Amino acid sequence: MLSTMQDVPLLISRILRHGMTIHGKSQVTTWTGEAEPHRRSFAEIGARAGRLAHALRDELGVRQDDRVATLMWNNSEHVEAYFAIPSMGAVLHTLNLRLPAEQLVFIVNHAADRVVLVNGTLLPLLAPLLPHLPTVEHVVVSGIGDRSALDGLDVSVHEYEELLEGRSADYDWPELDERQAAAMCYTSGTTGDPKGVVYSHRSVYLHSMQVNMTESMGLTDKDTSLVVVPQFHVNAWGLPHATFMTGINMLMPDRFLQPAPLAEMIERERPTHAAAVPTIWQGLLAEVAANPRDLSSMRQVTIGGAACPPSLMEAYDKLGVRLCHAWGMTETSPLGTMAHPPSGLSAEEEWPYRITQGRFPAGVEGRLVGPGGDVLPWDGTSAGELEVRGSWIAGAYYGGVSGEPIRPEDKFSSDGWLKTGDVGVISPDGFLTLTDRAKDVIKSGGEWISSVELENALMAHPEVAEAAVVAVPDDKWGERPLATVVLKEGATADYAALREFLAGSVAKWQLPERWASVPAVPKTSVGKFDKKVIRRQYADGELDVTTLG
Ligand code: AMP
Repeated sequence: MLSTMQDVPLLISRILRHGMTIHGKSQVTTWTGEAEPHRRSFAEIGARAGRLAHALRDELGVRQDDRVATLMWNNSEHVEAYFAIPSMGAVLHTLNLRLPAEQLVFIVNHAADRVVLVNGTLLPLLAPLLPHLPTVEHVVVSGIGDRSALDGLDVSVHEYEELLEGRSADYDWPELDERQAAAMCYTSGTTGDPKGVVYSHRSVYLHSMQVNMTESMGLTDKDTSLVVVPQFHVNAWGLPHATFMTGINMLMPDRFLQPAPLAEMIERERPTHAAAVPTIWQGLLAEVAANPRDLSSMRQVTIGGAACPPSLMEAYDKLGVRLCHAWGMTETSPLGTMAHPPSGLSAEEEWPYRITQGRFPAGVEGRLVGPGGDVLPWDGTSAGELEVRGSWIAGAYYGGVSGEPIRPEDKFSSDGWLKTGDVGVISPDGFLTLTDRAKDVIKSGGEWISSVELENALMAHPEVAEAAVVAVPDDKWGERPLATVVLKEGATADYAALREFLAGSVAKWQLPERWASVPAVPKTSVGKFDKKVIRRQYADGELDVTTLG
């Protein structure tokens, strides 16, 4: 028997209409690096999204399903694109501006993007690629930046503001199928070519609702969220859509992502929330230690994208800023877990929960699968690969213009769950602790050593700024850990002292023999430790390794 309820499709245009009317006064503030940031209300953004959709359809000929790419920082024009493109029935394709040129070329060609919206400051990056992007017909440039890089290229060039001028703000958003493609994002492609994840209107809508729940970010229109996580990195963790549902104000850093301007933004604009990967918070910590700033406005910070060292959480606790750990992937929209401890606990009792990756929200189911394919119990000790399923979890990758969706066996189980490649344990009350990426686990003499556990323990040392641990080949044990450390200025600890310090928190047989000091840990395009680079540096003899007996 079917229900008697209305079947109103879950569309991004509905989120837009809601935000621009019910929360019309909420604001997107974009940092300009000048005395005053730029401010635009949700009502204005909604009107401009209507104008942009008219321009894309009437001037550029964008039709349903056409891919419209963005190569942009976090700013209000990018938010306009976030709403206009999917709402008109086209597909928003966010491009990661930190990817190597050949990967960007692969991605744009694979998605067959017809239009690229680009910030003027990023033209030096886009222009040299354009001769290799045959599907791109139009480039729309917004904001400051020298346009001359586009001179002589075989592409039609438009100015964003000129395109919008004089057009109607009212766009008759089509009543789409909620399962239709709304946006796409390619994985950062650590192995093989990047893979395209295609989000639907329905998945974005449901994910946004979950982002807004108290067990997730739980913000309201009294909040301002500093959205440091890039809009090209998994939809800025869902914030641009979620904010339009509840009227949360957004503070956008544009290209000012260095610790000093971030600290200034926080002091001047007083956001109550922020979202970013651990690397950003490490950098900010060092900055405010050197140049103290008032961070007291922030009541909650969502941190994820890579394991958050507990020592970082402690350091921010001391500043009165609470970091809340979350786990997710491009394939999971990204909200997969969030670490809110159960209620009624003291700060001390909360701690063991806060340093986990957290619990699955309603809408995401998780299971651990052992090496033999058996589903493992949630007993806090059985370690296996995490698999997830849910309404905002990918069930396949984009197969290209004429291809079928791709479901590689190492990524999707035969019963349709996503294999995350993350290894961990789940406690009986549902808290997930990740110990490693499957490919980063150190297999020493048949036992597993968690590189993340060693890193966290090392980063708790007061003289260690960063530490990354990787597996390296070992004649006797198969693999052993190599610890690479970034020491703080003026540090006096030697490797023996660091090893001694580690011995206080991990088993003796797990202690690394091989040590190397590095100026910085190599990072991926989204700011995570790039362990494959460290492994390669070791293999090529580029690291100055000391072996302790
Ligand atoms: P991406 O698709 O680039 O966002 O990468 C997703 C991967 O980042 C996950 O599969 C994890 O390996 C890692 N990751 C994300 N959040 C966390 C976290 N809180 N702790 C540990 N690893 C994380």
